[in-house]
Order: sequence, then C-alpha cells, then structure tokens
Amino acid sequence: MAQEDVFKKLVAHCKEYGYVFPSSEIYDGLAAVYDYGQYGVELKNNIKRYWWDSMVLLHENVVGLDSAIFMHPTIWKASGHVDAFNDPLIDNKDSKKRYRADVLIEDHIAKYEEKIEKEVAKARKRFGEKFDEALFRQTNPQVQVHRQKKEELTARMAKALNDNDLAELRQIIVDNKIVCPISGTCNWTEVRQFNLMFSTEIGSTADGASKIYLRPETAQGIFVNFLNVQKTGRMKIPFGIAQIGKAFRNEIVARQFIFRMREFEQMEMQFFVRPGTELEWFKKWKETRMSWHQTLGFGAENYRFHDHEKLAHYANAATDIEFRFPFGFKEVEGIHSRTDFDLKRHQEFSGKKIQYFDPELNESYTPYVIETSIGVDRMFLQVVAAAYTEEEIEKEDGSKDLRVVLKLPAALAPIKLAVMPLVKKDGLPEKAEEIMQALRLDFRCQYDEKDSIGKRYRRQDAIGTPFCITVDHQTLEDNAVTIRYRDTMQQERVAIDQLPDILRKKTDMRELLKQIKL
Ligand code: ATP
Repeated sequence: MAQEDVFKKLVAHCKEYGYVFPSSEIYDGLAAVYDYGQYGVELKNNIKRYWWDSMVLLHENVVGLDSAIFMHPTIWKASGHVDAFNDPLIDNKDSKKRYRADVLIEDHIAKYEEKIEKEVAKARKRFGEKFDEALFRQTNPQVQVHRQKKEELTARMAKALNDNDLAELRQIIVDNKIVCPISGTCNWTEVRQFNLMFSTEIGSTADGASKIYLRPETAQGIFVNFLNVQKTGRMKIPFGIAQIGKAFRNEIVARQFIFRMREFEQMEMQFFVRPGTELEWFKKWKETRMSWHQTLGFGAENYRFHDHEKLAHYANAATDIEFRFPFGFKEVEGIHSRTDFDLKRHQEFSGKKIQYFDPELNESYTPYVIETSIGVDRMFLQVVAAAYTEEEIEKEDGSKDLRVVLKLPAALAPIKLAVMPLVKKDGLPEKAEEIMQALRLDFRCQYDEKDSIGKRYRRQDAIGTPFCITVDHQTLEDNAVTIRYRDTMQQERVAIDQLPDILRKKTDMRELLKQIKL
C-alpha cells in the first residue's frame, strides 16, 4: 500500500477510535487545530509522563516549571521573535493557495532522496543476495547525479535563508520548475515574510489595552525564571529546567494532520552550563534524547539526526531528531546549543542582572544553554504511526481477514487491560466486575461484554490494549482467567492473583525509564 494511503487510514483510525478529532467539527472544523478524544488524551498524558520522568526523575539536576502562556510583550522583543520569527510565504496565482517557500523547496529536495531510494530498491531486487548496498550508493552514476543535485539545492536554499534573500528563494523555485501541487503551474507571487505569532489584547480598552502575544515556544518562560529557580532551588551549574505547555504559531500551511498545528504542546528543557562546555553537553543531550526515542522499540533505522544547514541567530550548533513518518523523515525534536543569547538579551531588555556566581571558579558569568525541544503532538503522531499495523490473519474456517492493531508500547497504551465475561450471565459479569475492582487503581481497565469475544478482541486491538482477559465458567471454579496478548494473539491460562504481577512487569513506565542511556 502506498504510504499516503497508510497515512489517510491512520488519520481515519485516530478519529474512529476516539484518539483525535478535528476541532469544532460540527462547525466544519478549524484548520490545523485538533482535539484529543478519550483514548488520545490518555496516550498524550502517558507520553508527557515518559518525557517528564525522564527529565526530572532521572536527573537530580533537572527541575520542572509551569510558566504562564501570557508574558510581558517585551520578552518577545528581547528573544527576537517580534522581528525575526518569520516564515517566507509564496502564493500560487492560479490556485490561490499559499505555501512556505522553504517547504516547497525542501519537498523538492526530498524527491531526490526518494529517487535514490528507488534506485537502491531496484538494484536490490536485481542483484538479490549479492547486493552490496554501500558500494552501490557510492558508485552508481544515477545515484551520484541525484545526490549532487540534492546537495547543490540544499546549499543554495541554506544560503538564501541565511542571507534572508527572498528574491533568491523565489528564483530557486522557478529554476527548479517547482509547481503548485493543486494548479500544477509555476505562476508564483513574490516571496514575503510572515510573522507566526498570534497576538491579542490584555486589559479593557478603557484602561488602555496593550498588545500581547500567545507564546510561540515555552522556552522563554524558562529563561525569564532562570534566577528564580536557580536561587530558590539552590541549583548549581550545570542544571536544567523542564517545562511542558501549550505554544501557538500561525502556521502558513496547515498540513499533515497533527504534524503541524496552530495550537500545540511542547516539552522543552533548557540546560544551563559553563561557557566553553556547551558543545560537550550538546553531544551528551543528543545521545540521551535519541536513546529516549529508541527505547520505545520502533526500530533504530527509523530515526536519524539532521544537522541544521541554517543556524538560528542564537545558536552555535543545532540538530533535529527525525523520524520516518509515512510521508518521509521529518523533525520530531530539535536540540540546540543556544549560547548565552537569551539570558543576555533578557538582561539587556529588562535592565536586571542575570548571572550565575560559580563558587568553584569564584566568578560570575552568563550561563550557556543547551535546549531540547519536542512537540507532544508530533511525538503522538510518531507513536501512532509506528504502532499502526495491518495484518492478514487466517480465521478458524481458513478464510483470510484483516486485523488492524495499534502496537503501542504497553507503558504508553491508554487502556492496559480489557476484562471480558465470556457470556452476559451465570455470574460471569459479576466475577469480571470483581476483577476490575481489584485492578482498577493500578491499571487503566475497561469492561467489555458486548458482541462475540472475537469482535471484542478486535476492538481492543484497534485501541491498542495490550492485554485482554476472559472470564469463563471455569473461572468460577479455579479462579483463573485466559489472558490474550495483543501482538502475538497468544492466549494462556493464569491465576487471577498473578494478574497484578504480570501486568506490572509489562506496563510499568519504570521499565522504559531504566533503559534510557543517560
Ligand atoms: P518546523 O521546522 O517543522 O516548523 P521548528 O524547527 O520551527 O519546526 P522548533 O521551533 O524547533 O520547530 O520547535 C520544537 C518542536 O516543536 C519541533 O521539533 C516540533 O516537534 C514541535 N513543533 C513546532 N512547531 C509545531 C507545530 N506547528 N505543530 C506541532 N508541533 C510543532
């Protein structure tokens, strides 16, 4: 199946099974805004907990913060967002559709990558077992041509972005004959800058309302609280401050479901270090964050680092962790060495001294900062995209059937256990209820007695419930149930009093946390 079709199915699945709904749906929706349903909110909370615990439980020197969304407007002047938080936009005159010029070019670059992969796949088929992929990638003339074009275009775009050269960005689009996917034409407007911040007013007009912004990132709330946390927490450098919260960006193009939203949530951690040590810490956090992702078990080959060609004005090193989504490798997380830019600017704009006295060096300085920044929603998409599986299975009568299953890591699954009486009578529902009562404080359980057992299993597979237990007549005699494992569909008989142990071992978030390389 084409990857685009897989993605469409995934979006439909998320809606059908109560994970993600379009916002304001009965009013025909609101572009790039989504609501999380009954299972979505649980998965989202579990993702946030996995991140939060990996920061504040695993690192004694990382503490949390919850700063307000509204902040003093000068903060966004100081951070550079008022003047420079822009995207280059371009319109197609025929379709009247609006695009980000850099994204149009990036999509074109990705096509060269796809062409390379196609050549490799063709050759693999042709040469079979003898195929030496590394050699082929190095020497095949067709691959070389695509790679060279890709590199040239990447460098040209990076230069145009770095120089803020909007005319050159347009020229790249024209030279490469990049067309609008809707109209198919190259009839483009000029490229203009567009500020992504939403603004609103605080205070009533009578009092003299003033313009404020909805924060486009959570990081600035951390910077302006640096001294508060450092002093009240008696924190010693190096230390970090972690925060989870909403951020808002008036994205030009709303696409790809919850990948790019106008209201979204970020999990950000700013790690304050001695100047001169920042690149070591940058390296360390790169490794730790990659390990956090890979511990979920979706396959190391589905992740890669992508170092930035264009460094933001404040950064001296930056990389993205990219995941292989159904629409290609895309950023899920950014790791940035932000130097002392933000703290220095806040010192300058606020007129308050923001420095740290280092008792070991006996001197004061402005700390340097390593930032790890990941979108909750993008992470959510990564998890469901990796978990969504369609399997052909054989039914008892020998016919084939399609099983749709969300192979979520058990610790993240919204529902851990479904409890099912085989029939709705003979005291089985009461026994099932009794089991639910005993487990519900430790594990999110769901009771299900409607339809055949087979249908109920499928329903739980689609939600991603890792364990189902069936209560049958024999249960009333031997106090044992059948447990069925989602991924293997294997079933075994276990004593009811063993259930807490079995479930704890498999669903405990601590088992994941222990595996992260710090
Ligand atoms: P992009 O290049 O995709 O616009 P970015 O580089 O501007 O993203 P950052 O400012 O580094 O993103 O934000 C950190 C993280 O926040 C991203 O890695 C992503 O996971 C998340 N994020 C950013 N913008 C959005 C958005 N509009 N919707 C959902 N998540 C987002």
